Amino acid sequence: MGEFRGVDFYRLDDLLSEEEMMVRDTVRTFADERIIPIIDRHFEEATFPMGLIPEMAGLGLFGANLPEEYGCAGMNDVAYGLVMQELERGDSAIRSFASVQGALVMYPIYTFGTEEQKRRWLPALAAGEKVGCFGLTEPNHGSDPGSMETHAVKRGDCWVLNGAKSWITNGTIADVAVVWAKTADGIRGFLVEKGTRGFSAPEIKHKMSLRASVTSQLVFEDCEIPGENLLPGTGGLKSALMCLNQARYGIAWGALGAAMACYHSAVDYTGARHQFDRPIAAFQLVQEKLVYMLTEITKGQLLALHLGRLKDAGKLRFVQTSMAKMNNVSIALETARKARQLLGANGISLEFPVVRHMCNLESVITYEGTHDIHTLIVGEAITGIPAFC
Ligand SMILES: Cc1cc2nc3c(=O)[nH]c(=O)nc-3n(C[C@H](O)[C@H](O)[C@H](O)COP(=O)(O)OP(=O)(O)OC[C@H]3O[C@@H](n4cnc5c(N)ncnc54)[C@H](O)[C@@H]3O)c2cc1C
Repeated sequence: MGEFRGVDFYRLDDLLSEEEMMVRDTVRTFADERIIPIIDRHFEEATFPMGLIPEMAGLGLFGANLPEEYGCAGMNDVAYGLVMQELERGDSAIRSFASVQGALVMYPIYTFGTEEQKRRWLPALAAGEKVGCFGLTEPNHGSDPGSMETHAVKRGDCWVLNGAKSWITNGTIADVAVVWAKTADGIRGFLVEKGTRGFSAPEIKHKMSLRASVTSQLVFEDCEIPGENLLPGTGGLKSALMCLNQARYGIAWGALGAAMACYHSAVDYTGARHQFDRPIAAFQLVQEKLVYMLTEITKGQLLALHLGRLKDAGKLRFVQTSMAKMNNVSIALETARKARQLLGANGISLEFPVVRHMCNLESVITYEGTHDIHTLIVGEAITGIPAFC
């Protein structure tokens, strides 16, 4: 396959600042040189490429849109989105790692934590010296996290946690977990450190999607944590949803990266593969699929870019993020499926990135709010009627 040429049918690069393009191009090179050459092996062996953590940290990719005073890069949100796009062009597992570390661990510590918690954790997480995870989903409660069973009870100066979380990205390799639990005052967020008695994080095996990502259960059995591990600014499910909105923003961009990788493969492959004495790109039904891909990626880019501009201007509404997550992941998955067909039998081989992206996107369309839940969030914004409960 040829070198990735970018996808910019509508000259959207003209709308990016020099700094935004520099960030994008730096991460594009990182994906080409450091992620793509090794990711198939990790996908096949179901391992996370731990060696990439210090390299990503060195590029300032963890909590990249958080302030420099805590060791972060202080990028704007458009540059942050472009980082997510390029990481996911490498693999959704790498983008997921960065999303969790930044949007779901560093963001809540930054937003809801004490100054002491911020000073202790944010520079170490930004430097990749520590890894974090975010525990909201439970075995019996996914789309409806407000019904969670995990609870925390105050005992003297400590909190005692009981319950279980499931499908937690980075769980087994995390040094610190942001855990959401019910208390007498409603849902609160807590920091639970690796090695705390009563806390374990077994890995979930046999995944057919996001295989290069570590996914785990978190189990709390009379797990006692110090009182100061409460994130004091958290109050109710809304705090957890604020974190998810940060991560969904990154997914709206990231999914485009996966779609671009599939589109690029499909263009190259159909131009080179001959059947009936012609390149298969010459057939109308093949071109129709390529046109779908480019059109939907371009529409998705426009959504993501304007979403980013709204976020940078402090005008972003969460339903706008829902629309972009819903749309961009959906078109990315459809693009991957069409690309897989265009590659014929080769489409199921890890020799090409398409089937890996296709399998990964089956997780991306489910996590951080399923496609249907985001549809219903937008539906409520239109009608004023919540149809999900
Ligand atoms: C690889 C991976 C990594 C993940 N990482 C994390 C993580 O780091 N932290 C974390 O907390 N969670 C994580 N998750 C969990 C993820 O967020 C949940 O899977 C997701 O929220 C959906 O929950 P569920 O799987 O329990 O599905 P369910 O909620 O049981 O939904 C099943 C189906 O029912 C539909 N449905 C449910 N309710 C309604 C309704 N009211 N109306 C219409 N349809 C409905 C859904 O759309 C879906 O199609 C991860 C998941 C995966 C696959």
